[in-house]
Amino acid sequence: MAQLLEVENLRVGYTEGDREIAVVEDVSFTLAEGESLCIVGESGSGKSVTALAVLGLLPRPLEVIGGSIRLRGRELRGAPEKELRAIRGKDVAMVFQDPMSSLNPVRRVGDQIGRAILAHRPRTPRAQVRAQVEEILVRVGIAEPRERMRSYPHEWSGGMRQRAVIGMAMANDPAVLLADEPTTALDVTVQAQVVQVLADQRAATGAAMVMITHDLGLVAQIADRVAVMYAGRFVETGTVWDVFDDPRHPYTRGLLDSLLTAQNLGARAYAIPGSPPSVHGRPDGCPFAPRCGSPLRTDACAEGRPTLELLTPGHAAACTPLTAMVDA
Ligand code: ADP
Ligand code: MG
Repeated sequence: MAQLLEVENLRVGYTEGDREIAVVEDVSFTLAEGESLCIVGESGSGKSVTALAVLGLLPRPLEVIGGSIRLRGRELRGAPEKELRAIRGKDVAMVFQDPMSSLNPVRRVGDQIGRAILAHRPRTPRAQVRAQVEEILVRVGIAEPRERMRSYPHEWSGGMRQRAVIGMAMANDPAVLLADEPTTALDVTVQAQVVQVLADQRAATGAAMVMITHDLGLVAQIADRVAVMYAGRFVETGTVWDVFDDPRHPYTRGLLDSLLTAQNLGARAYAIPGSPPSVHGRPDGCPFAPRCGSPLRTDACAEGRPTLELLTPGHAAACTPLTAMVDA
């Protein structure tokens, strides 16, 4: 299948004095139409930065310092802002974690979704825009859309606002939808509904999705493939089956244990000891080695950064001892 989005050896960082600080390193993935990738990992691992880089919306001082981002074969890295603006919201759209950051508090919700349509199809007649906004609100499960579109964001619940933001992102049926922890701010029952909205949208439009989430239920429901991110790199990639049923990287195992027990035990959950290295203190060897409790761990782990290597077809991990076992 032709690839829609190809991210190759993406490197994002900034310069501090004469030193280059890399925040995201060597991230590669591809998405075909209708495919979805979930990115999981502890906070600070570079998930949001990866998504923002694809959209060309990196906050200063961050910039893409290496690699390539291609949409239908077209290079987006270094593309003029005018070109990116034409693509953003139309071909590639993003749902941010906090719906209020995407909604203007002093504008009616319906007008804001209408603007998202007009931004890319400025000649659409007003009545048609209104009809489309209404249809979008129905699609994302807002009852009585004709009345509700006249409300301001603060008059809507958190769940409704997140639906509105998803609706806004889907307004132009983008080919690629990026969603950054879209359910984190919501309570559990609303989370499930929002997840369903995303799944329905994908089924209806064939959009490819990149989903960043800590919610394993959401991963299971939405993802074709999973990438586990640690200290700026993908450390394990594979299908949901590969990564959930046969996690290989010690970090993935720890992460799944902590996420699973967090869902069941709350505060008493297992947590991986220690914390991820800061961008200034990433070790030369495996960045997880200082926290790694795996019996596989050897002195070799502290030497040389492990790269993603295939363990079985389609299932890769960046772990020197695992690679040595495959090679043996
Ligand atoms: P997460 O996986 O939680 O989404 P982020 O992608 O937001 O993590 O951030 C990854 C790292 O990038 C952070 O730990 C931080 O060091 C760095 N970073 C994020 N935003 C900025 C910024 N605006 N300026 C400099 N560094 C940043
Ligand atoms: Mg984030």
